[in-house]
Formats: sequence, C-alpha cells, structure tokens
Amino acid sequence: CGVFGVYATSDDKVDVANLTYLGLHALQHRGQESAGICVNDKGEFTNRRGMDLVTNVFDEEALEELTGQMAVGHVRYSTTGSSLLSNAQPLVTNSIKGELALAHNGNLVNGLEMRKNLEQRGSIFHSTLDTEVIAHLVARSFKDDIIEALTHSLQKVKGAFSLIAMTEDSLVAARDPHGFRPLAIGKLEDSYIIASETCAFDIIGAEHIRDIEPGEIVVINEEGIKSKYYGERTPYNFCVFEFIYFARPDSVIGGQNVQLAREEIGRQLARETDIEADLVVPVPSSGIPSALGFAEESGVPYKKGILRNRYVGRTFIQPTQEIRNLKVKIKLNPIKDIIEGKRIFLIDDSIVRGTTSKQIIRMMKEAGAKEVHMGIASPPVAYPCYYGLDTSRRQELIAAENSVEEICDHIGADSLTYISQEGLLASIEANGYGFCTACFSGDYPIGEGEGKFSLEC
Ligand code: 5GP
Ligand code: SF4
Ligand code: MG
Repeated sequence: CGVFGVYATSDDKVDVANLTYLGLHALQHRGQESAGICVNDKGEFTNRRGMDLVTNVFDEEALEELTGQMAVGHVRYSTTGSSLLSNAQPLVTNSIKGELALAHNGNLVNGLEMRKNLEQRGSIFHSTLDTEVIAHLVARSFKDDIIEALTHSLQKVKGAFSLIAMTEDSLVAARDPHGFRPLAIGKLEDSYIIASETCAFDIIGAEHIRDIEPGEIVVINEEGIKSKYYGERTPYNFCVFEFIYFARPDSVIGGQNVQLAREEIGRQLARETDIEADLVVPVPSSGIPSALGFAEESGVPYKKGILRNRYVGRTFIQPTQEIRNLKVKIKLNPIKDIIEGKRIFLIDDSIVRGTTSKQIIRMMKEAGAKEVHMGIASPPVAYPCYYGLDTSRRQELIAAENSVEEICDHIGADSLTYISQEGLLASIEANGYGFCTACFSGDYPIGEGEGKFSLEC
C-alpha cells in the first residue's frame, strides 16, 4: 500500500486534496485496488474512496468537493485477496475522543488475535483490515487524549506499519519499531507532507526532509512538529524487497536512490556468474535497472529484446492465477529480430511462483533464441512475507520446495543464477539500515504471525 498526508499551515492557500491526489498518483505502483482521500476542514471530515486507480476514483469535480487544511490518502494492494470497498482506506472512525482517519501500509502479525480479543469485549468490526484494530484500540484506550491513545495503541500491536493518522487538529505519522515499510517527511513551503516514498514529494515540488525512524511518532499541528519514540528502539529491519522490486526507482530511501541500488545489484549479479551470452535482455520493467548494471559490469551488450505493452498493470497484483497466466502474454512480447539465434542473458528482479519466467522463456525460445540464461536480482524467495508484501503462501512459492536446478528445469532456462544474499545486501547503501530478508532466509524479525489468516493491510 501507499500512504500520503498533508498538513497545511493555516495561512497557506494550499489545495490539500489536489496535493494528495498527485501524491497518490506517484504512489500508484504501491497498490491499484482502491484509492481514497479524506480531508479535514476545521475538524470536519469528508472521506471518499473507490475500488479503482487514483485517476478513475477522482475527477476534478470530486476533488473540488474535498476542501480542508489537512488530508490523508491511501492506495491499496491487498495481501490476502478480498477486494472490498469496506476495506478501502482511509479508515475513518468516530469515538468520544473525536474523529480519526487512518491510512496504513503493512501487516500486523497479531492483528487477528487482537481482533478476537476486542470482539470478545464488544467491539464490532466493519472491515477485515488490521488497521481497524488500531482504531478500536484507540477508542477503548483509557487515555482521553486521542494522540496519547494512538501512541498507547501502537505499543500493543506487533508487525509492520507505516501509518498516517489524522485527528481533528493534528496529522500524525508513525513507523513500527522495525521500520519494515518506508515513510518520509517532506515540506512544501510551510506545509508538511508525509509519504511512503519520496517520489510523491517530487511530483508536488516538495522537499524531502528526512525519513521517519523505526518506532518514531511525529505529530504535526498548530504548535508545529513534534517527534518522540513510543517503544523500544530496535534496529532497522527494512524490507529489502522495497529495494529489489516494490519501491519506485526515482525514490530515495535511507539516502540511497532505488534505481542506483538496483543497477548495483545487477553489477553484483554479473560478478557472481560466468555464463557467456551475446545479449543482456531485461524482463520489462522490473528487470531493467539490474540488467543495465549487469551489462555495464560484464561488457555484454544491453538490448531491450522484449516489448512491454504499457497499458497493462502489474501482473502479480491480480487476484487469481487464471488472470495472471493470461496477462503475461498480453503484457510482454519478444522482439524476434533482436533475439533470433542469440544467446540471451535474461534478467528479472525475482521469481515468486515461476509463472512469469516460464512463459517469457518459452516466448523467447519460440522467437528463436539459441540459449536463454536467467539471472535473478534477488535470492530464491522460499518463505512467505507476513509484513505487507504479497509473496504469497508458502506452497505457491516455487523456491519453497525446489532446488535452483529444479526451478531452472521448470522454467525451461539453460541456466539459472540467483544473486547471493550477501551480494545483494552489499549492493545497497542505505544509511544505518538493517534489512529484513525473511522471504529468503526464513529469519523472521518478529515471528511468523498468523500466516494466511492474518488480516490485511
Ligand atoms: P512469478 O511470475 O514468478 O510468480 O512472479 C515474479 C514476477 O512478478 C517478477 O517479474 C516480479 O517483477 C513480479 N512481481 C510483481 N509483484 C511482486 C511482488 O509483490 N513481489 C515480488 N517478489 N515480485 C512481484
Ligand atoms: Fe520484505 Fe521479504 Fe521481509 Fe516481507 S519477508 S518484509 S517481502 S524482506
Ligand atoms: Mg516483473
């Protein structure tokens, strides 16, 4: 998911809905299922959400109706599959403490347990969002002040959350103590902006000030900006997949530009293989940066040998397998005249189920490739993610039960090289960041959670 928030200082003439719309548009890659914007006009909330892309949910008319001094927005990508309007965010709740809008990126590992607990004590849930757990905890908290109640609630939940909350008078941003998902603060003249990724600052001309730290909560209101740590400070366990695949290449995380990190990962992959090839070809678009780095390091020429129809969304995020199978063909087509008779080193960021690689390699061979060697810019994904990325249930992960040789066989490649975990980590220079690598290593920083029964982001 992607989150965005804006706090306009009272004397600014800032169109908060428009800024949020643009910010969400830049964050669209983080989720395409639903989009929502909630504005706050002197304490009065208006929330608008829809099950579609940002540009389809909001038109000029809709945006004009959203006026205020603060806004929070969300784009959603569900991690277990149920695409319902009731699960679209921001989630707005009202308690005796006041109105509260929440936009959340991540997954709580104790979400279901907390929900059961709350339901036994009378809470009635309206969605299957684990974000709603936080809302109920706030309502039930013995703290009267809504921000204290929120802080207290965040101490009780476990998991991944980069969260933006809006109360009647404040905009709040918080990151879980491990810092799994990105979250940054920016400034646009006197207004404060919070966003999942810095590409959302660029689109509105805001300046990136800094990242929000693990375990930090930032409160912005009339009194200015205040920060504190609400829990023990654990070292960063930033999701390494954000660098491999998920984040946008123009974003900067921990001082490291994502595109450059991916190019360096490609260079490292080249250092780790001695396969001979005539051309380096990326699987578009996710394989492009690492293929560039690979070509640079190996000296093998880079060619865009596969065309991508850019009017098709990301395949992986479609809910069912049938749609996914069909979509690879709709989306990608090898360019026969480039590929024919050549030994191709094909590069992609990851293999999850193996669907994409298998189909592309078959297409490449049909187009006359002499050999297709596959290079992957991540280690084998052998364990599911419980912290907000849909790397699926374990049985769907091809590397869970198969060796590299078996996977190579299955996808029909002439060879298969994955980058090593050490090589991958050495390629990323995010200041002071430690990484979660659980989907490769099975080393879960905070336990495996409730597996497939866990609630959604
Ligand atoms: P597969 O076809 O092996 O199941 O999926 C791998 C492909 O899905 C890669 O090309 C990768 O770029 C893409 N992909 C899309 N979304 C995700 C995601 O959330 N995680 C990962 N690891 N890959 C994804
Ligand atoms: Fe990221 Fe993998 Fe950790 Fe999930 S398990 S947070 S995808 S590194
Ligand atoms: Mg891809």
